[in-house]
Amino acid sequence: MKKRDRMPEEAGKDSRKNDVRHGVHLVKDTAKGHGLYARKLYIPGQILGFFSGNPVKEDTRNSLTLDGQKIEPTGGLKFLNHSCSPNGAFRGRWLVAVKRIMPGEELTIDYLATESTISNPFVCMCGSEGCRGAL
Ligand SMILES: [Zn+2]
Repeated sequence: MKKRDRMPEEAGKDSRKNDVRHGVHLVKDTAKGHGLYARKLYIPGQILGFFSGNPVKEDTRNSLTLDGQKIEPTGGLKFLNHSCSPNGAFRGRWLVAVKRIMPGEELTIDYLATESTISNPFVCMCGSEGCRGAL
């Protein structure tokens, strides 16, 4: 094994530059579109990434309202999908695990936790108990 190929223990310490910690999350293109998948186990409270992006005036398809500001994402967290029973949530602009997340599991947030209206309404198929259905 070449030294350079080794993944540092705490990959992507500078998570502000790499909002999706380098090599930790995987973007997959699946039947339901792009999604972010954990590559390792997370326990509640652990940081999953930083929502990097630029302030915008109007809601966009991918924007989130964080710290009182609409942010258009420029990093990997724009691939976060919605679940009515999510395993992640934002604390400010940091995405934090709120459940135990197994490797290979999709990272999700509740869009309605940050947005008062959904600019692109859709029918939720998260399959969780208490799924809201149409958003
Ligand atoms: Zn749902």
